[in-house]
Amino acid sequence: MSQNTFANPDLTTFCRLDELGLRAVGQHLDRGRAVLDGRVVERDYWCHHCGCQGVPRDTVIRRLAHEPLEWRPTTLLVRVRRYLCTGCGRIWRQDTGKAAPPKAKISRGGLRWALAGIVVSHLSVSRVAAGLGVAWHTANSAVLAEGKRVLINDPARFDNVTVIGNDVHVWSHTRKGDKFVTVVIDLTPVRTTTGPSRLLDMVEGRSKQAFTQWLADRPQTWKDRIDVVAMNGFTGLKDRCQRGTLGGGSGDGSLPRRAPRRRRVGPLPATRSTRHTQSSRACVLCQLEAGHFSAN
Ligand SMILES: [Zn+2]
Repeated sequence: MSQNTFANPDLTTFCRLDELGLRAVGQHLDRGRAVLDGRVVERDYWCHHCGCQGVPRDTVIRRLAHEPLEWRPTTLLVRVRRYLCTGCGRIWRQDTGKAAPPKAKISRGGLRWALAGIVVSHLSVSRVAAGLGVAWHTANSAVLAEGKRVLINDPARFDNVTVIGNDVHVWSHTRKGDKFVTVVIDLTPVRTTTGPSRLLDMVEGRSKQAFTQWLADRPQTWKDRIDVVAMNGFTGLKDRCQRGTLGGGSGDGSLPRRAPRRRRVGPLPATRSTRHTQSSRACVLCQLEAGHFSAN
């Protein structure tokens, strides 16, 4: 038996509000939801403009969806103090950037939970939205933005890539029709049997032009060493009119150099999306699972 040391029960640390720069001062529990009353820990009472001290003026409330306990949505009601500058008369509010991005409706903890839910647990966007107690579109755009921020906006991600594949997914269904996204996947680790594939980029649209344009935007030196593998959902890629787009890296530039069959390129542990092409909104992010994702 391990020897546990117990501290006093503490809602702030239990709900990881301390990581958001918040302190819990109250709770309201219903069967269906929990509401936490939170305060911003950092005082922030020096004027951002002239540096004079401010005096408290009033408070405003910022509502944030937070990670749920079980499936009960948790809402943070963050009381944000506003100050009036005694020097220049400007008004500002306490910085809540640690708790959530500006104008966001979901806390950073909630975002982390949502992304982990979709990437690691394969939850649907609907399920995540229900857990957070927010609208589908709110969850969808927040998770996409967070996914891009955490996993894709890494300038070094194109380094050492030699094989890429792409696939088309329906990301959202609307009354005006479906929205498509083309995902670009780094298959280098699969070819070299050093690891799973990983997500490299997401491009709006499903057309061959979308992918062609994406390739055109890459530096020539990079394209010169890249092979493109056609994946199941993107038959257009097999079209010979792609020839020449890639330069000399694939010999005569014809595509694909490697057969798209999974058995030819080795195991593709993270290509759930290729099996589920155009059937699931969450599939795009399933590709993220193959990346170096950490839920923390
Ligand atoms: Zn001032």
